[in-house]
Amino acid sequence: MRSRHRTFLYGFLIWLGLSLAGATVLTRAELSRQQEAFTVQSNIAYRLLGQRLAQHDAILQMLALLQPPVQRIERLGALEAMFPQVMAIYREESDIAWANPQWQQAQLQSLKTERAVLTDVRLAQGRYVLLAAAHPASFAVLLDLNAAIAWDEWPFRRNGSPVRVVLEWQDQQWVISPGLEHAGPVVFQSGKTLASPSQRFQLHTRRVVSYADLPWGQVALFALASALLVALIIYVRKQREQTLRAQELLRIGQVGRLNSLGEMAAGLAHELNQPLTSVLANTQASLRLLQEDPPDLEPAREAMAHSVEQIRRAASVLTRLRHSLRESGLADQCYPLSLTQVLEESVHLLMPELERHGITLEKRLPPHDVDVVGEPVALGQIIHNLLNNAVSALGAAQISHPRIWIEVLPRQGRVVLTVRDNGPGIDPQHLDRVFEPFFTTRSDGLGLGLSLSESLAQAMGGGLTAINDPMGGAVFALELQRVDEESS
Ligand code: ADP
Repeated sequence: MRSRHRTFLYGFLIWLGLSLAGATVLTRAELSRQQEAFTVQSNIAYRLLGQRLAQHDAILQMLALLQPPVQRIERLGALEAMFPQVMAIYREESDIAWANPQWQQAQLQSLKTERAVLTDVRLAQGRYVLLAAAHPASFAVLLDLNAAIAWDEWPFRRNGSPVRVVLEWQDQQWVISPGLEHAGPVVFQSGKTLASPSQRFQLHTRRVVSYADLPWGQVALFALASALLVALIIYVRKQREQTLRAQELLRIGQVGRLNSLGEMAAGLAHELNQPLTSVLANTQASLRLLQEDPPDLEPAREAMAHSVEQIRRAASVLTRLRHSLRESGLADQCYPLSLTQVLEESVHLLMPELERHGITLEKRLPPHDVDVVGEPVALGQIIHNLLNNAVSALGAAQISHPRIWIEVLPRQGRVVLTVRDNGPGIDPQHLDRVFEPFFTTRSDGLGLGLSLSESLAQAMGGGLTAINDPMGGAVFALELQRVDEESS
């Protein structure tokens, strides 16, 4: 349960990290796309307005040059069609002052600067007068910016555009489009003075990016995709872990045991066949002799004595088999290795079994690695058998709070690993027999686990013992040779 929670928590954290990173990247990309569009549109507006203002200078230059003779020109035919923003054109002889003092002041300024001058500006309505002093007459044009903008080319909608576009001159403003002023995390703005030297208006654009403009859809999709990816990775890893675990269990548990059992059984059948046939023949013969009237005791006794001898021989076959394990050369394959590591691997393998039975595992290990002399596969097999037996005993007895304690106690030159459980313990009259080959009290048991484990422990220069805990439960103590820190 706990490891499942941990996997879920790690998966959730990885997903959260991935989603946040993805959301940041996507939002940044979207904002920079929007900003680029805003900059391009602002530049187009700046260029279009600039072109129009340059036309106004050109109109005045043309009037000053051509000097049309009319006093006041209204709706000037072709000019009106070409420049709809020109509302009226005024002319005044240069030696006569303009009636409007503002215009006269502009006239003087224009004379001084030798260029057209702005006057009578009513920017709120988009109107102003551009006046150029010339000889023999000066000219002024009344302009309407509303007509200056070609809306079909203009990059912003006049109404409903999210961008606020304002033309400014001194403290006057002409709002071209009001834009949308809502709350938002990001504001884009730009301000530029238009290029015309006579009409130095400033064009300001501003866009507030609202929360609704952020790429929520893409972020949600990305989060979903990351969740699927994380789930897939967890699933694949779990599958792989399960497969590895199953393979390992098979190797050290069932297949290993069955293989060795198969080999052992074949050897046993071969070795025991002869004494057993002889026992059968002798027993049958003595039965026949005893049934005779009167029973023929002497040959019957002889036949029985023969049987006993053959049975002893069969027993010695079994003992020899155990000894051969001990002398299998395992001692030569031993080397210093970390007991803690082998222990952790065995525990990891049995974790699903412990979880399935709701068994709490308590480990009391020294803070540092403990090195012993051993062969890793054999050591793993012993620890696996001890843990597996404890799980079986606890499972069969249906203990309400099943527990297993593992303790590693380093001693002078030795290390003792104990596996204790709070199960029913071992029947006292079986205590001496649990290490015998084929001794089992379990219906599906083979009775080989402990016998094999004891032989392996002895082959590694250690030993295996069993006792019952006074508080209940069985205690198995595996003693091994320790590798001292100084000598390792
Ligand atoms: P198997 O597990 O196939 O029976 P083993 O050699 O591993 O063979 O165990 C022999 C016997 O020892 C078991 O059948 C059981 O009676 C006893 N035994 C082993 N471990 C425990 C334990 N932790 N608690 C109680 N009995 C145990």
